[in-house]
Amino acid sequence: MNNLIWYYPKTKSECIKYFNDGFRPHGGGTFLVKTSLNIKGLFNLSDIDEFKILSNDGNHFNIGSAITFSDAGSWLNLVSPDNYLSKALLNAASTPLRNRITIGGSLCSLPKWSDIAAPLLCANAIIQTAESDKEISLEEYFYDRKIRKNTLVSSIKIPVSNLNGTYYRFTLTGFDYQIFSVAVSESNSILRCAVNGNKNGPSLFTGTSTEILNETEQKLIFSPERGFSSEYIKNRALTEIKKLVKIAGA
Ligand SMILES: Cc1cc2nc3c(=O)[nH]c(=O)nc-3n(C[C@H](O)[C@H](O)[C@H](O)COP(=O)(O)OP(=O)(O)OC[C@H]3O[C@@H](n4cnc5c(N)ncnc54)[C@H](O)[C@@H]3O)c2cc1C
Repeated sequence: MNNLIWYYPKTKSECIKYFNDGFRPHGGGTFLVKTSLNIKGLFNLSDIDEFKILSNDGNHFNIGSAITFSDAGSWLNLVSPDNYLSKALLNAASTPLRNRITIGGSLCSLPKWSDIAAPLLCANAIIQTAESDKEISLEEYFYDRKIRKNTLVSSIKIPVSNLNGTYYRFTLTGFDYQIFSVAVSESNSILRCAVNGNKNGPSLFTGTSTEILNETEQKLIFSPERGFSSEYIKNRALTEIKKLVKIAGA
């Protein structure tokens, strides 16, 4: 392993400089620790106010990229009780891991088992970049690996009105990587249904319940996993989508 260089910047502009010089941001380190670490070095994000923001301006919730799943989930649950994103954040992995995994690290590494990909897509969340304060839609960010690699995320912005909905994660035991997850929300009789774990990555479907059920049936493809065939996983996902769409009630 390389002798890694670590930096502990105190301002956002220092972070941007390290990022542009080829150093990688360190969130919770739970993904980095499993990689070859064939990188120039790391910089810590947890001392930067803009990356630790938790705020509500009435229209949007803003959550800093260095905020952990535990802190984001608990705070959101206070400001918007029973929302589906808190449920996803607070049921991912285990307590010690949730105390480390950050929003930014999770979005950038985008593991197939990410618990936040489907709910954030469903909530129409927006990525705020550190460098230019530019906003990127989550769909664009997820689908373009180059953007993910080359963007230092400072926070995410979630429309307050989009957090009413439901979330389901399919696992064998509580503490297990999910095989797939589904989030469904409804606004003005239009449903949004996001699915993660399928072969095409996090996918969003919108429309009436009939349109969503038809489209998910046509487009979702799963790989066999942990003893389950791809057909079983797909049937299971379609059954859960049907239930959640019914609960959302459009
Ligand atoms: C045993 C285990 C079980 C797990 N189970 C689950 C689970 O059930 N559900 C779930 O959702 N997750 C789970 N995870 C977490 C998941 O696999 C990733 O490890 C995690 O999402 C990475 O987040 P992090 O903050 O630790 O990122 P890090 O490891 O710190 O970083 C990951 C990548 O993101 C980059 N990065 C970090 N912050 C930023 C930023 N602000 N802007 C741009 N790039 C950034 C880093 O440079 C690096 O390339 C589990 C992890 C482990 C080890």
